[in-house]
Amino acid sequence: MAETTPELPDSEALQVLHRVFGYDAFRGQQRDIIETVVGGGDALVLMPTGGGKSLCYQIPALVRSGVGVVISPLIALMQDQVDALTALGVRAGFLNSTQDFEQRREVEQAFLSGDLDLLYLAPERLRVESTVRLLDQGKISLFAIDEAHCVSQWGHDFRPDYLMLSELHERWPDVPRIALTATATEATHAEIATRLNLTEAKHFVASFDRPNIQYRIVPKDNPQRQLLELLRTEHEGDAGIVYCLSRNSVEKTATFLTQNGIEAVPYHAGLDSRTRAKNQSRFLREDGLVVVATIAFGMGIDKPDVRFVAHLDLPKSVEGYYQETGRAGRDGLPSTAWLAYGLQDVVQQRKMIDTSEGDAAHRRRLGTHLDAMLALCETVQCRRVQLLAYFGQQGEPCGNCDTCLTPPESWDGTIPAQKLLSTVYRLQHERNQKFGAGQVIDILLGKQTEKVKQFRHDDLSVFGIGTELKDTEWRGVIRQLLAQRLLTVEGDYGTLVLTPDSAEVLGRRREVMMRREPERVTRSRSSSGGGKKKIVDLPAEAAPVFERLRAWRAATAKEQGVPAYVIFHDATLRQIATDLPSSLTELGKISGVGENKLAKYGDGVLEALAGE
Ligand code: ADP
Ligand code: ZN
Repeated sequence: MAETTPELPDSEALQVLHRVFGYDAFRGQQRDIIETVVGGGDALVLMPTGGGKSLCYQIPALVRSGVGVVISPLIALMQDQVDALTALGVRAGFLNSTQDFEQRREVEQAFLSGDLDLLYLAPERLRVESTVRLLDQGKISLFAIDEAHCVSQWGHDFRPDYLMLSELHERWPDVPRIALTATATEATHAEIATRLNLTEAKHFVASFDRPNIQYRIVPKDNPQRQLLELLRTEHEGDAGIVYCLSRNSVEKTATFLTQNGIEAVPYHAGLDSRTRAKNQSRFLREDGLVVVATIAFGMGIDKPDVRFVAHLDLPKSVEGYYQETGRAGRDGLPSTAWLAYGLQDVVQQRKMIDTSEGDAAHRRRLGTHLDAMLALCETVQCRRVQLLAYFGQQGEPCGNCDTCLTPPESWDGTIPAQKLLSTVYRLQHERNQKFGAGQVIDILLGKQTEKVKQFRHDDLSVFGIGTELKDTEWRGVIRQLLAQRLLTVEGDYGTLVLTPDSAEVLGRRREVMMRREPERVTRSRSSSGGGKKKIVDLPAEAAPVFERLRAWRAATAKEQGVPAYVIFHDATLRQIATDLPSSLTELGKISGVGENKLAKYGDGVLEALAGE
């Protein structure tokens, strides 16, 4: 296998990469990370989804003697992870609450007799004394702490059981630990290091850019229709995830899509666990299924060919948004992250924050998260630059987000801002009243509605002073004032109230720049795209071969009861369809075809290639 540095002898790690995984070379910082852990050192790895974190602990576990213990909260996915490793010829098992006594005993036996390379463990298992005793009796090569941000209370996936992981080092001081996460604000990063006692660890922070994902944020109008249009025009037949805030809207949206000819299944915590498991498994196994879900869905989903992630409601934080959208395009092919958001989202989220449990500091933290998310929505800058900046990284305007592709104009909104704030001021101070956006806009537009008459708002001096903007434009003004913290909402009805900064605008000491939405956000894919069922970057003559390979893969996956990607990823099938290997030796040179898969699937692939 070419393309490695010729003057160096292949390290054992590199040999494993070739032989077991069938890959040519390490990516990014993988080599340094693996060397650190193989050498017995601790590592803290921040790498975006799809960056290749798994190899960073799987290879050291194969190189070092003993069993690599992987702590992961993703019980539902452990079986798939083990299947994927088994397909590679790696000896793996898991211990979690889904197993019966007999199954658990088998795995424990394999662990004790040294017949495992990797053992996946749910964190709560470590609370059970017998598990700890079991671990004491075997030989552990390393601890991998996956989804390490779960230890952070600042973040969005906190799991109390993760706090116990700080004790690993006391109990097993000689076993190296590697903590991995795709979440990467400075705050979370620091918290992971402290809480896990990773005092000596080397930190590896990769670039968080996901260049193949196109970020788009549009004003919410009729979200289901908007979504349908997106799927019909750009993602027909693609697998994707649609996130909604509530169980109710998950159900409604899934039904709506199905009624409109798009196969979709719901996923939320209110469904019984069997239905949930079934829908998740269908999503992983089938090509082109859409899952409509609350954020309960998705952590650890390593389906490589998710082509879009759509949000129908505003995420609670930029971190959450980035994690969720990051589930698109792990395979590096063009993908879409699309979010529709409106004023009502802000009202709803503020309300949730106001009524949330926890102390004032906690609520303040939630408020800060929301503000950052709003700022991202209302930016006139490149979305990617803004996202990376949130994670403390720099970027250039990317050319692959909506603000780059269709730059919004920015305009001086000082006067409308003054009109709006002064309406809120007058209601509050002349009438001792608070109202939501709808009434405030009706006053500005001078509408004689029932409610206007009832409260005699047509007597206010501001009545009808805002006819230069349309209703939707006023909503935009309000959103931006909220995003800039010049206005806030409170209470059950989302009433508008001034903030300490509002006075600066009212007192003409501050200008307010605003974003004008492009009439219609035009879409454009970075790739040439075009055809319906696009197979990106595939020469025309290779397309039917690729389809044939996919059919073979689907049949094989079904027969073996594993997700299709466990057999080969799309990227590998594409390479095969382009190179048309005519022997097992040639097939073995293709990236993603390791020793074990060659032995297991080689003949099948060659037959599929030969078939008509
Ligand atoms: P993460 O866990 O960081 O989201 P994964 O470990 O799932 O990412 O890797 C993402 C994809 O990249 C997987 O399909 C994986 O097989 C592939 N990959 C990882 N490292 C390499 C490499 N060195 N060469 C080729 N492909 C790789
Ligand atoms: Zn951009």
